[in-house]
Amino acid sequence: MWLVLFFLFPDPEWASYTLGVFVCHSCSGLHRNIAQISKVKSVMLDPWSSSEVEFMDSVGNNAANTKYEQIVPAFYYRPTHKDCTLLRDQWIRAKYERKEFLCVEKQEPYSAGYREGFLWKRGRDNGQYLSRKFILSEREGVLKYFNKNDAREPKAIMKINSLNATFQPAKIGTTHGLQITYLKDNSTRNIFVYHEEGKEMVDWFNAIRAARFHYLQVAFPGASTSELLPKLTRNYIKEGYMEKTGPKHTEGFKKRWFTMDDRRLMYFKDPLDAYARGEVFIGSKENSYVVLPGLPPSTQGNHWQFGITIVTPDRKFLFACETEEDQTDWIAALQTVINRPMLPQEYAVEAYFKHKP
Ligand SMILES: [Zn+2]
Repeated sequence: MWLVLFFLFPDPEWASYTLGVFVCHSCSGLHRNIAQISKVKSVMLDPWSSSEVEFMDSVGNNAANTKYEQIVPAFYYRPTHKDCTLLRDQWIRAKYERKEFLCVEKQEPYSAGYREGFLWKRGRDNGQYLSRKFILSEREGVLKYFNKNDAREPKAIMKINSLNATFQPAKIGTTHGLQITYLKDNSTRNIFVYHEEGKEMVDWFNAIRAARFHYLQVAFPGASTSELLPKLTRNYIKEGYMEKTGPKHTEGFKKRWFTMDDRRLMYFKDPLDAYARGEVFIGSKENSYVVLPGLPPSTQGNHWQFGITIVTPDRKFLFACETEEDQTDWIAALQTVINRPMLPQEYAVEAYFKHKP
């Protein structure tokens, strides 16, 4: 019977025979988490009855999406296969198990414009996670958290206009780990949080996206939804260790953790530091930014052999990677940003970096 399925749907792997949808191998594992709703089997390896094949034929992915994705809010994050397991698992649960996209009332946890709750937050100095009350208020335009439940003054106020959130399970060391960043005096600040419940964590993430969406709609009234959606949250272009030297190129190379966040190349002593030791603005080739493999011939002190030179209008930055593959990946990451012309608002950011003390 699999032959029939094969002709109906090219390149099938796995299918949920209770929902009538085809899924990839990786998603089939997540469908097993909601076995009361979705039962999966292999298209090629498992036996199929003719009634099951008829059911697959009568539903299919398009019809299922029409049914289960009736009202997905524009800001709601739709994960791809590049995303972490938590986001993909919660998408499948929200769609099929909780049926959140059939009923606006179920979307209140992230669409109400206000959210309050507790998250485990990593302590800045000792790395210990402590329960902290967080409040997200669209009206006030802020996310804030409190060190004591009855405290009047928040410990930090993060403005929605510079807020970003990105799941970083590997770096944080917990499957639900979320990195939240914001700008303070034009420098990036990091906090690291998680919640034991996957739904809670993803609801926070989408609540932040909703708040950002509404903020951007007000800030850029002429912009279309499709222009705004990529700006709600962003994942990093690349992260990892490199060696770097100081501005005089004589201080020796130090190993640092680097994060390429859009046009900001930040470096940290520890990947979970609260703020960067330094940030380099990466402009475009039209504005004389260049990335080159290798280091100037006189360079000394690097333990790693695979050099990268970034030329900016002001100075050269020297980096060294441990492997050739790392070097290639970093150059490609930097090149994507350099190849992109600068937006008007990015000139203002560049000017700030140039006049930084
Ligand atoms: Zn999949």
